[in-house]
Amino acid sequence: VIVDRDQKPLHLPSHTKVFATTTLEQVIRDSGVLGTRPPSNDGWRQVKCAVCNDYKFRGGFKFDPSGSCAFHCFNCGFSAVHTPSRSQFSEKMVKVLTSFGIDLSTAQSALFSAFASPSHPQPQKIDRDLIPAKEIEKPSTFFPLDPTKHPKAVEYLKNRGFTENDHQWWISIPADKKWSNRIVVPVYNHREQLVFYQGRTFIDSPKRWESPNVPRSGVIFNHKKLYEPGDSVIVCEGIFDALSVGGVAILGSEFSRYQLSELKKFRGTKIIIPHKDDRGLAQGKSALENGFSLSFPDIGSCGDINEAFVKYGKMYLIQQIYSTIATGPQAEFRLGLWCAG
Ligand SMILES: [Zn+2]
Repeated sequence: VIVDRDQKPLHLPSHTKVFATTTLEQVIRDSGVLGTRPPSNDGWRQVKCAVCNDYKFRGGFKFDPSGSCAFHCFNCGFSAVHTPSRSQFSEKMVKVLTSFGIDLSTAQSALFSAFASPSHPQPQKIDRDLIPAKEIEKPSTFFPLDPTKHPKAVEYLKNRGFTENDHQWWISIPADKKWSNRIVVPVYNHREQLVFYQGRTFIDSPKRWESPNVPRSGVIFNHKKLYEPGDSVIVCEGIFDALSVGGVAILGSEFSRYQLSELKKFRGTKIIIPHKDDRGLAQGKSALENGFSLSFPDIGSCGDINEAFVKYGKMYLIQQIYSTIATGPQAEFRLGLWCAG
């Protein structure tokens, strides 16, 4: 049994599968916080300090071949160091890791690695479900939507209830076969780094949408909202649903563990509107287990939030969502009826 200096057993959450030979450096690199800037001459990886929420690249991480990691910010002066011989992170390092949104249980796997017995090597297993998406490049074939050149795209947006000015929309050049004739919606993380995008066809096509090859489990649409003060946030499945109500989207019906940990950073009420089917039942149960709230808006025969937004308008939709919020056993009861009907 591994014990820390206070002789309390160190414990990882039972669902954590990350183990073995990972290091804190690897965890920090995998988290995507380092961005794409090359290191400085003396090896510092420059970042915008998340401790003081700096808007300039005045913070930095430095990694030593021995496995030590250092952080320093030249704006707020915050410093933290971790050496592999330590059995736990200093309070300051915890502050750095949490400020940058790095999952602590993932980082703790580096502590275990340092103490893993060489005679009992464990297979290296990185749990994708816990890892945030890394910053990606915007393809050079993408350009901002020009409404005069793409009337069909504007027409498509209008049918979804939006104008060309409601959001940042991209269009690909025609030569890019995979992405042409699609409205591309960029997705940024809370540090405003591009991590994903989704292209939706605005002409008839068998394939409705395209995405880059990035696990969606590490992505949240409108992620920044979770880091802003607020009483509540509506958590949707799709981007257009989220745009309809000013919420966030998890790009699917299942929460990844990364998405759950990010959603929990938002202090206010997390509102989920389950689909009226088995998928919605599973999602609603998972939401309640995590302390989130459910909402059961009357949206008639509409299949999703965006459809209701187009049909009834934003004011009615928002009013319905907020007046039908339920939590705990009451929500569980209503969920059963909702998904059975
Ligand atoms: Zn700082």
